[in-house]
Amino acid sequence: MSALLPIKPASQAFLQRAPRMLIGAEWTSAADGALMDLRNPATGEVLCQVPSSSAGDVDRAVRAARQAFDDSPWSRAKPRDRQNLLWKLADLMERDADLLAELECLNNGKSAAVARVMDVQLGIDFLRYMAGWATKIEGSSVDVSMPLMPGEEFHGFIRREAVGVVGAIVAWNFPLLLACWKLGPALATGCTVVLKPADETPLSALKLAELVLEAGYPAGVFNVVTGTGVNAGAALTHHPLVDKLTFTGSTAVGKEIGKAAMDHMTRVTLELGGKSPTIVLADADLNSAAAGAAQAIFFNQGQVCCAGSRLYVHRKHFDNVVADIAGIANGMKLGNGLDPSVDMGPLISARQQQRVFNYIELGREKGATIACGGEQFGPGYFVKPTVLVDVDQKSAVVQEEIFGPVLVAMPFDDLDEVVRMANDSPYGLGASIWSNDLSAVHRMIPKIKSGSVWVNCHSALDPALPFGGYKLSGVGREMGAAAIEHYTELKSVLIRL
Ligand code: NAD
Repeated sequence: MSALLPIKPASQAFLQRAPRMLIGAEWTSAADGALMDLRNPATGEVLCQVPSSSAGDVDRAVRAARQAFDDSPWSRAKPRDRQNLLWKLADLMERDADLLAELECLNNGKSAAVARVMDVQLGIDFLRYMAGWATKIEGSSVDVSMPLMPGEEFHGFIRREAVGVVGAIVAWNFPLLLACWKLGPALATGCTVVLKPADETPLSALKLAELVLEAGYPAGVFNVVTGTGVNAGAALTHHPLVDKLTFTGSTAVGKEIGKAAMDHMTRVTLELGGKSPTIVLADADLNSAAAGAAQAIFFNQGQVCCAGSRLYVHRKHFDNVVADIAGIANGMKLGNGLDPSVDMGPLISARQQQRVFNYIELGREKGATIACGGEQFGPGYFVKPTVLVDVDQKSAVVQEEIFGPVLVAMPFDDLDEVVRMANDSPYGLGASIWSNDLSAVHRMIPKIKSGSVWVNCHSALDPALPFGGYKLSGVGREMGAAAIEHYTELKSVLIRL
């Protein structure tokens, strides 16, 4: 593993110019000058510092967004203008895609090559998909009866209007993509945004902010405040001038944000944690199921909200499938994400690494057997891809989100049993079924309590498909037409003729 892999001159220049945050048209420091360190998870070294904002900085950003929404050229922009600007922004992201991918790698630890084709490309595709929606936001007209005013004539219609100032708070696992999931529908509908990236990973959001200005968006349409959740995040959550909160992160923080939103009846969307099942039926193509199950849990170091972190395999294939997954895991190359031959990078932080090891230890104490992994690797925050067997469905390693490369595997005997086990979770984000038995698959789909069900694939996302959770995995949906609904209000209008 090399901590000394060269980084691109553009990334070097970006880091060296001490990234500041964007409020209105101004690149600014925190008012009190506070800074926080960003670390490279592959080496543990400090990459650079960014402002650590407090409530006063967040207030400035919200006011800039408020002013841009209420009274700026943006408030008068036509749907076609919003479409063209979003398309321009996507083009600029495409131009700077390699830089964005490398910043994501340096700041998050993930593979730059994977970030280029996944995180950055999905972000670009999503903005272009949302650009199309800008010209297709419609109301409707209604033929009203008005029984209390017989003989009168009315014209009734319903307008769909932008919700206003959006406070967006995101997690560190897909920093750029999560920001695009918020920004796309907000800008398509005509909202303005204050984004609070995760404490650990603000770099790609700051680069995105540069591109937003270059694309020609008026000042204040997109603002980025860097800082901690307890300071900047909480200040944004409680700000009375924010019309909508959109949050991606843990269920614990999501609950706090949801409760706080109700103080001002702020609209709120919550994309939270998961513990998604991968289900391998008796007839499945076992090679593809084992490879798919390994990818479902180990992609992005297991730091994926809908990662397939619980594996249920029909008993007659259980040992073989687990052995195949362990073989794949043992063959994975761990290392610095700048190296294109690396399969798995480090976790985001020493804290996350410790949290994952604590869960592995807890599993072991409760009788789990380690089929592979369970160990540290290198000087960065690495955890070897791990599979635990002999686990109890009710145990913490099966019920709680570990958010690392740890798979818990259990056998089942029949469909009713596996549906019960799959649904025996506080979460409900995603699930995959591996089978070619159409009848079994179709009988299972309606019974699975999760926002997405994939068949013979896992974590397969498309801009046109709504994504979000049942149960503790959240409230509301991102992507698809559903996202437009969450960034708009309905207004009923009745005109007496
Ligand atoms: P986290 O909840 O700790 O932090 C997420 C964001 O919330 C960060 O920006 C953080 O600064 C901020 N925050 C923290 N405390 C806050 C507070 N009191 N008030 C306001 N903001 C606060 O989550 P994380 O550890 O960064 O991310 C991992 C979690 O995110 C996992 O549970 C994962 O499943 C979830 N996630 C969900 C989705 C989805 O679409 N459902 C996608 C990615 C990640």
